[in-house]
Amino acid sequence: MTTPLEIAIVGAGMAGIACAKQLQAAGYTGIAIFEKSRGVGGRLTTRRMFDTCVDRGTCYISPKGVQFRALCDRLIAANIIESWTDTTHTLTADGKLLADSDIYPRYVAPNGMNQIAKYLAKDLDIRFGQRAIAIVPDGKLWRLTISGSEPIEILAHQVIFAIPAPQAVDLLTPLADILPVEFLANLRGVDFYGSIAIAAGYTQSQLAAWEATYPQVKSVTCSDDPILGWLGVDSSKRHQPAPPVFVLQSTADFAAKYPNPEDLAVASLAMLERASERFLPWFRECEWQQPHLWRYAFPKSPDLNAFLAIDRPAPLFCMGDWCRGRKVEDAFLAGLAVARSIVG
Ligand SMILES: Cc1cc2nc3c(=O)[nH]c(=O)nc-3n(C[C@H](O)[C@H](O)[C@H](O)COP(=O)(O)OP(=O)(O)OC[C@H]3O[C@@H](n4cnc5c(N)ncnc54)[C@H](O)[C@@H]3O)c2cc1C
Repeated sequence: MTTPLEIAIVGAGMAGIACAKQLQAAGYTGIAIFEKSRGVGGRLTTRRMFDTCVDRGTCYISPKGVQFRALCDRLIAANIIESWTDTTHTLTADGKLLADSDIYPRYVAPNGMNQIAKYLAKDLDIRFGQRAIAIVPDGKLWRLTISGSEPIEILAHQVIFAIPAPQAVDLLTPLADILPVEFLANLRGVDFYGSIAIAAGYTQSQLAAWEATYPQVKSVTCSDDPILGWLGVDSSKRHQPAPPVFVLQSTADFAAKYPNPEDLAVASLAMLERASERFLPWFRECEWQQPHLWRYAFPKSPDLNAFLAIDRPAPLFCMGDWCRGRKVEDAFLAGLAVARSIVG
């Protein structure tokens, strides 16, 4: 076994990356991030499909506080993000499309929202395709088992789980005998809503029909709809001429009826059918569509207002957007808060 890591971070979403960056800036070395997927970003994700890129996770970011504002300013200066729209819309239950009253810039990355994570992750030691599957104490260290092409064991002085709380519960429940009861109870108290997100491609004439019917409308929240939660014109974020793409997100109740990936085909037909009823009749006739099931999309009751931590047998932290809210900014601030508490 190699030299123990100073800090092992599980999860390369915004929370894990922000935390690692901050620790690195404070002079910490010996930090590695273990990420089960092949890329950075987690729910801040982008997929290439049908000659374009599509954001089926985070659609846009809009800073509320000073620290995230400063990050957004850096990302604007680096040409990673730009303002997409100042105005979002809501489709009411009785079919009225209303402009929302909160007018401020919503920022997007024209080359895909995961560019934000990629930009921040430069210079970090991120090990992709590495899923943490177990953790046990080993003296005053933690021993993590990581499954990849070959399972490996990693020793670390401190471990940070920057993943949705229910996924941390799965990993930490076997340690119930040694963890403080309150720590595990708090972690178990954080539940998540699921969501199904579909990317759907259309023709230029269908997009023109949308623009004629709904001029300047790029982001619509469907209020009180049993199936559709949100619809956005994803291709309007791109600079390069891109095929028209809409992204549709389901409600949490609808996603709960389709918990298995095998159900996604049926679920996406129902969502497109619903978009035909609520918006324009051709929504069901897309050129192509790709659904994705987010099992852990949005925290249900993010009111902890803090990360969860223990310091014995060795320091261990659990954090993510769910510590503070349900947005990228919350994940970013959770990452900074854990880093601050380590740096002291
Ligand atoms: C459909 C959708 C739309 C959204 N829209 C917006 C929006 O418009 N604006 C906004 O601000 N926010 C939005 N959000 C929320 C935003 O995406 C999240 O708040 C934020 O990205 C959470 O970051 P995180 O780092 O806390 O968690 P995550 O992004 O979930 O990162 C966790 C990472 O850990 C990895 N991981 C999990 N378990 C393991 C393991 N055992 N071993 C190794 N790696 C593991 C995952 O692969 C993932 O990369 C949206 C979310 C969804 C799902």
